[in-house]
Amino acid sequence: MTRHDLPEPSFRDSVDLMFNRASALLDLPPGLEEKIRVCNSTYTVRFGVRLRGQITTFTGYRSVHSEHMEPAKGGIRYSLGVNQDEVEALAALMTYKCALVETPFGGAKGGLCIDPRQYEEHELELITRRFTYELAKRDLINPAQNVPAPDMGTSEREMAWMADQYKRMNTTDINASACVTGKPVHAGGIAGRVEATGRGVQYALQEFFRYPEDVAKAGLTGTLDGKRVVVQGLGNVGYHAAKFLSLEDGARVTCIIEHDGAVSSEAGLDVEAVKSWIAAHGGLTGYPSGTFHPDGRRALETDCDILIPAAMEGVITRENAARIKAALIIEAANGPVTAGADEILRDKGTVIIPDLYANAGGVTVSYFEWVKNLSHIRFGRMQRRQEESRHQLIVNELERLSRDKELGWTLSPGFKERYLRGADELELVRSGLDDTMRSAYQAMRAVWHGRKGVPDLRVAAYIVAIERVVSSYRAKGL
Ligand code: GLU
Repeated sequence: MTRHDLPEPSFRDSVDLMFNRASALLDLPPGLEEKIRVCNSTYTVRFGVRLRGQITTFTGYRSVHSEHMEPAKGGIRYSLGVNQDEVEALAALMTYKCALVETPFGGAKGGLCIDPRQYEEHELELITRRFTYELAKRDLINPAQNVPAPDMGTSEREMAWMADQYKRMNTTDINASACVTGKPVHAGGIAGRVEATGRGVQYALQEFFRYPEDVAKAGLTGTLDGKRVVVQGLGNVGYHAAKFLSLEDGARVTCIIEHDGAVSSEAGLDVEAVKSWIAAHGGLTGYPSGTFHPDGRRALETDCDILIPAAMEGVITRENAARIKAALIIEAANGPVTAGADEILRDKGTVIIPDLYANAGGVTVSYFEWVKNLSHIRFGRMQRRQEESRHQLIVNELERLSRDKELGWTLSPGFKERYLRGADELELVRSGLDDTMRSAYQAMRAVWHGRKGVPDLRVAAYIVAIERVVSSYRAKGL
């Protein structure tokens, strides 16, 4: 039996195998490794909702992987594929992700076994409110203990319903808005949360390309400019990542993969046009430019510099890993590369920027939103005009010097407008996110290059995360 024929581990086992690779390199006190690895609890709920004249029963989960810090944080997914193994794997990833990007949360995840496309909006609202009720009465939605967010199949809309339901159940809780993140801006959300995960993928790649030594490990050179990018999944994460990389970094999106096939073009695809086509036609089929390929899975094997799996877990497996041609894979989805595929790719020199780092932009901005909700004030509200007037002082002074001393200085066109304008919430959020992604990458690469036996960025990321969880357990006296 070759390595390619071995059975694929489950998602949960895959995450544990990755954890074990890292913990084997650490000298943890006996028992602590297991305490960190296992999921603390998983709650399963079955509830009925009266829809279209009959009662339909739904199954939902909320799993808490770690409470070393509270609240526990992580999205709620609506998909028919939701099951306990998946929710627990995703909750574990949340623990490591939050530790890596230093958001002060434990890890959790939730899911509802449902195909949201089968329901009308008002039906989804009823289902979401009922699910929220079931979770909130057990403190599995609570600003201090457990804070959900959007994930696959959910968005701002569901978060607004959840927050409202929680408020109805907790009328005197002044911090009720902080019970979920990813809410619309007009309902307690924060600017930049929708784009955050895709933006984080862009910042992660920008940081990676700042280190020629790391870029060389993938067999690449130069910057993001002109790099050929393949994106799987043009949902919220894939769309924003593809859009920002092509518009702002000069990358060429040469192939987009969706559920019904793929479209490719060596010259680069217009991400916005593809997105509108999917919104209008439900898929890529019939897209008028580029070449259509009916087998989307095969399209993952397209020759390119950077592959961005941004759809779901388990898409690069032992079966197709050897045929993946990308030099660099950045895991915008959670768990797109199985533990088996990970080894095959590492052996052939593919560099992987791992999920717990690559898609941490979402939870990072969720953290900013949670802080905003608890402080009850928009970021920048106190400082913006003060910052502007101090900048105005400098500009006035420069202009006075130039005039009085006849220095003949003139400010470059546009400088004054850009310099004088104080940062608004969106700029502050992007700046905080960029800083977070840079710092986390630097922590990972210090371990990758600086410690013996660390083979790749994933093991490095887990080491950084595990060590931070250990420190917080130590501080608690465990
Ligand atoms: N669902 C997202 C994730 O997997 C966001 C979680 C959050 O913002 O809490 O990271």
